[in-house]
Amino acid sequence: MPRRIPRSGRPSTPRPIGDVFGRTEPGPRDGETYIVRTVPGARAVKTYRCPGCDHEIAPGVAHVVAWLAEGGEDDRRHWHQGCWNGRGTRGITRRWS
Ligand SMILES: [Zn+2]
Repeated sequence: MPRRIPRSGRPSTPRPIGDVFGRTEPGPRDGETYIVRTVPGARAVKTYRCPGCDHEIAPGVAHVVAWLAEGGEDDRRHWHQGCWNGRGTRGITRRWS
């Protein structure tokens, strides 16, 4: 019986992260690692809501997009550059009242 080398036997890290998709930085909460990518103004074509200040990021404004390293890109959030930089002290604003 020939030995078969499993080609898909790895745990789920199908895509490279790091330099390819962005850098990694600590997230707003302790122990979290985020993938962070800078979005240049020319690539910002939609309006996003920044979770740091709860204000909108207008199209054409350079900002950062970040998501949990173990979460995946589906959970990415768009932040103002300054809000991302200050995330450790400001935290995430969630006051919807
Ligand atoms: Zn903001």
